Amino acid sequence: MSRVAYVNGTYQPHGEASIHVEDRGFQFADGVYEVWSVFNGRMADFDGHMTRLHRSLNELRIDIPMSVESLTRVLKETIRRNRVKNGIVYLQVTRGTARRDHPFPSPDTPPSVIVTSRSVSTTRSEAQAAKGVAVVTQPDIRWGRCDIKTVGLLANVLAKQAARERGAYEAWMVDEMGLVTEGSSTNAWIVDKHGRLRTRDTQANILKGITRTAIMDLIASENIELDERPFSVDDAKEAREAFFTAAGAFVMPTISIDGVKIGDGKPGPITTKLRTLYLDRAKRDAV
Ligand code: PMP
Repeated sequence: MSRVAYVNGTYQPHGEASIHVEDRGFQFADGVYEVWSVFNGRMADFDGHMTRLHRSLNELRIDIPMSVESLTRVLKETIRRNRVKNGIVYLQVTRGTARRDHPFPSPDTPPSVIVTSRSVSTTRSEAQAAKGVAVVTQPDIRWGRCDIKTVGLLANVLAKQAARERGAYEAWMVDEMGLVTEGSSTNAWIVDKHGRLRTRDTQANILKGITRTAIMDLIASENIELDERPFSVDDAKEAREAFFTAAGAFVMPTISIDGVKIGDGKPGPITTKLRTLYLDRAKRDAV
């Protein structure tokens, strides 16, 4: 089946879709992105991701490329043209194409917009979630504005690759104080040895995950207590449960950290409950 990508106003065959060599996303990682998970052809947590996109653009002073209505149409059309039932839709906006020079280009340079969408096997991710996955830790070597969802992901790529080379699914990044910041593409959570659900606050330099926020809303409505505070690698290794959240991964149980078994080495009850609650709500509210 032929895939299609949206690039600056036109839908192109995926294999031929391209941007200019002097696009600032390519030259400087001068751009931002969002990923929505797609259920039955519809996007989950739609408003949250759209709001964060605007915040990221605003923080970097990149012009809003088009209205929310137009962008929504493009996202939906890209999903439709790729016949994606369950999967993801990816959006990237960069500061546009201009002669390679560090300062911002002239203000009339239009931002570049690309959208792609692809199917993800639900059977595979359900099987991973049923068993749980391994996490390893890596030093967090990223810049100081991880709250902005930029395409500058080199440190995240290196951390994820290190995880894969050690047979793990995700890398949890660790700051100089030995505290877990977040996963290479996910937010990190534990149920600590006292039974308290914990994830770190987002004042610090981590991405405020949309899935994280959605789970917090569920936690509040289920009257589960949340301790929004950083935890150390040792706290995590002693935890009863551990998991991570992101669009695409949803709530993914973690059964080992650096080879140390978490709890009884199986997905824990709170993790499993939150995954079910999240998936039910995300599917119901998808647009
Ligand atoms: N942290 C990082 C570094 C990420 O890249 C992501 C996913 N893009 C997340 C957390 C999770 O965010 P979300 O729930 O919005 O997908």
